[in-house]
Amino acid sequence: MMNYRHAIYPGSFDPVHVGHVDIIERISKIFDRVTVLIAVSPDKNSLFSIDERKQILTESLLHLKNVDVDFNTGLTVDYMKNKNIRILVRGLRAVMDFEYEISMANMNRKISADIETFLVFASPEFSFLSSRGVKEVALNGGKVTGLLPPAAEKAVEIKTKKIQSKV
Ligand code: ADP
Repeated sequence: MMNYRHAIYPGSFDPVHVGHVDIIERISKIFDRVTVLIAVSPDKNSLFSIDERKQILTESLLHLKNVDVDFNTGLTVDYMKNKNIRILVRGLRAVMDFEYEISMANMNRKISADIETFLVFASPEFSFLSSRGVKEVALNGGKVTGLLPPAAEKAVEIKTKKIQSKV
């Protein structure tokens, strides 16, 4: 049986930032259950391992009782089929996200007709925020205070120190 009350929120979450947490908090009030899915793409250079990302996400979302965290190495639509999940949520920051999201939504629809993509607008105060931007600032010695949930901020600090001690 397809579950219409269970949504999936896939992404790289390398690491999760407060813009992601905002979207997750908002959709957790709408759906009965939300699975945050670390979608592993081999072509992306990640700062954190899957385990690290999962741990950071889990710690950052402890306050949301109907939210769980998982990861998947294949297609997100296959994961969804296996778990009978029909709704895929993505966040939209600005027009620049739109083209990517529409092509991905249509591709997913093509390969799995049952799936619907729901786009949720980023809250304006977070619309500038990206994991890539946060990493760039942190790795170059800038302050990322307030941009990350505490667990992610701590992990970024440790990782940055480790990287900087190697160079
Ligand atoms: P991906 O690499 O798949 O884009 P991300 O981890 O960067 O994964 O993002 C996961 C989801 O969160 C995407 O839908 C993305 O558009 C959305 N997102 C990213 N940054 C923000 C933000 N600042 N506010 C709201 N949503 C965001």
